[in-house]
Formats: sequence, C-alpha cells, structure tokens
Amino acid sequence: MALEPQADPLPNARAPGTAHAGSSVRQRNLSALLRILHVNGPTSRARLTKLTGLNRSTIGGLVAELRELGLAVENGHEVTPGPGRPSPIVEPRPEGAIALAVELTVDSLATAVNGFGGEILAARRLVRPRRSVEPDEAIEEVARQIGAMRRSWERAPLAGVGVAVAGLTNRLTGTVDFAPNLGWRDVPLSQRLTQSLTDMGVPEQLPIDLANEADLGALAEARRGAGRDVDDLVYVSGEVGIGVGVVAGGQPLLGAAGYAAEAGHMLINPDGASCGCGARGCWETEAGERALLRRAGIEPSLVGGEAIEAVLARAADGDPVATAAMEETGRWLGLGFGNLVNLFNPRLVVLGGLYHRLFEPLQTYIDEAFGSRALPVSADMVELVVSELGDEALLIGAAELSLERLLDGPLALVNRVPTT
Ligand SMILES: [Zn+2]
Repeated sequence: MALEPQADPLPNARAPGTAHAGSSVRQRNLSALLRILHVNGPTSRARLTKLTGLNRSTIGGLVAELRELGLAVENGHEVTPGPGRPSPIVEPRPEGAIALAVELTVDSLATAVNGFGGEILAARRLVRPRRSVEPDEAIEEVARQIGAMRRSWERAPLAGVGVAVAGLTNRLTGTVDFAPNLGWRDVPLSQRLTQSLTDMGVPEQLPIDLANEADLGALAEARRGAGRDVDDLVYVSGEVGIGVGVVAGGQPLLGAAGYAAEAGHMLINPDGASCGCGARGCWETEAGERALLRRAGIEPSLVGGEAIEAVLARAADGDPVATAAMEETGRWLGLGFGNLVNLFNPRLVVLGGLYHRLFEPLQTYIDEAFGSRALPVSADMVELVVSELGDEALLIGAAELSLERLLDGPLALVNRVPTT
C-alpha cells in the first residue's frame, strides 16, 4: 500500500487543527522508513522510494530527518544501469537507538544491547547451575545487569527492555503467570523490575516488554534467521521444557494474552509421565530433556548440554540403552512436529535450544514418526531445519520486541531523550 506523502513542512501556512494530522503522517512515514531499514539493512534512496510509494523529495526529507535524529547515515551509492544519478545508500545507525534484551530461562540468564538495525552491540550470559530460581534473586540479577548495560550506553536513545521468559507470560499485564520449569506463578515481573531499577538509581523509567521465550525465538528466526523469507513458521525450542512460537501469515500468533501455542503441554501420550503443569503425558514429558536423560539412564547430577553430550557419546559407543532412548525421544518429537504441521501448515519448523544439537542425531527417528503423523499435503510443504541464530535467538527476539516501540513511534522515542 502506498503511504501518504509527507505534509508540507510549513506549519504556519496550515489551517488551525491540521498540525496534528501532519505530524501523524510524518510519524507514519518515518515509521515505514525505519522499519525497512531495520529489517532490510542498508537500502538505496531509489529502493526506499519504490518500497514506500513516496516520492523522491519526500524520501529525501525523511532521510535527512533520520540523519538528524542519528538513526541513519548515508554511505556510498548504488549504481544502476541506464541514465540517472547514482542513488545514495541509507544505512541504519545501530547506536542511534538501542534496546536492552533479557533472556530468563532455567539454565541461563543473558542480557544484551542491540542496536537499531538488529546488530548485537554487547552481550553477557550467566550459565547457572540447574535449580529452581527464586523470582527475587532473578529480578535483582536482571536489574543489576540491565542497569550496568544502560550506564555503558547512557547516551543512546533507548527503545526499552525486552524480556524473554521460559513460561506463560501475560503481555497485557507484564506478569509471568505460570512458569512450571522456573517454579514461578503470578510474578509481576515488569513492575518489579521497574521498582528494582528505580531502587538502584537508574534515573529514567525504562519501558519493559515481556513475552514467552519461544514466541520471541519465532520472531527472531522469522526476521533475522532461518525464516527470513518465510511468512509461516513454527519455532520449537527445547530446554527443560518445550517452547513453541508460531508466526502465521507474517504475524506472531499470540492468543488473547500471549499464551498461544503452548505445545509443550499438548497431550501426546495419555499414558505418559506427569508434567510440571499438573497434567500428564504432555509433549515435553515425552520428548523433553528429562525424558531423554531418564530413558538413557543418565545420573541425575548431570543436566543440560553436558548430559545430552553424554547420551550422544554413549550411543556412539554402541550403548543400546542410550540408542533406544534416542529412538523413543525422536519418535515423540516427530509425532509432535506432525501435530504442529497439521495445525499450522507452516513452511518451516525451526528447531532451537536443545533440539539444535539433537536434530541431526535423532533425525531418522523424527522423520519416521513425523511421516506417520503429518498430513501428506502439509508435510510436502514443510521443511524441518535447525535455528540459524542458535543461542542468540531469544536475545535477538527480545530486542526486536522492544525495538517495535521505536519502529511504531520514532518521534515519541527521540523526543524524550536528551540530545547529545
Ligand atoms: Zn504439561
């Protein structure tokens, strides 16, 4: 859809009452340009003109404004065949606006600073010993890390803080409503993080956006990873539990509060093991990390990546118990993928977290079970692939969630920070 041309920049010449309409057109046009630069990277002015439907002089004015705001630079020219001048290339300027990203999962707590355009400018990961994490402890640590990162980047306009949590998060209220693998229920995370940051002396109020980790993995892979050119994908990430995020028709599938696609808790085996959610036979009890380790007879002191490597090593040495554990886990995984493909008809199923490592060794078993479950017409359209973003997927997704604030309302952001 073509956008409206930018209003004439002569506010005094307008009739009373039209200033607001002009500024909303300007905001919308800036927003459209920012989104293209953020998602596509460096883009020539000629291409921006084509993509937005705006005319050349309007694009020239908007680019000048983005340069003034510190959000873009022009660097080099695109030489096109035929007559006409070479078109300047507009590049997003990462430090022109940043987002702070947080990943809060059972095994790790990670934070990052991501710039406009998607670049990770700094990142830090704390790998924790596997145990339940008290909300107080986690919130204090997250606040400390966010506070330190904000201080290091205090001159950059901040879109906000995006937080990826391994649990059911309510996007409307900013609470972690139910996170069985963290052992959390009804934790008002946004509110408590805000309070902790204030207590620590962070002078500004940081907007905090919260979402389920797999939903953010899906967003990251769709925008910057394996699903860049794909409108329909399912992201499946394994840690202790199984998280699933769905992008359908280019849009995240969230449900009323953000709980949608909790496929880790779909019923897959009525006779299966009991789950942290209170039910029995959920997908994660049959195809998750604990199921694999239990079947392989791995000692309970070993968890996470170390334990997975132990299973794979034993199977490679010909251990029949480890091999059978991989076969059975792969079978439940494949059945679950079949269900998801029948439900969502994606082009891609992207495997992250634990399954990034397990996909190849389990692929034969996964494929067989998947083939038995998926409807052939849906199966023919889909490819199962591993995540391109790997360990960074959740942080990238969290940053993308927060940078939406910049893309949706660039003027609100740049007007509330002191110019430096
Ligand atoms: Zn469950």
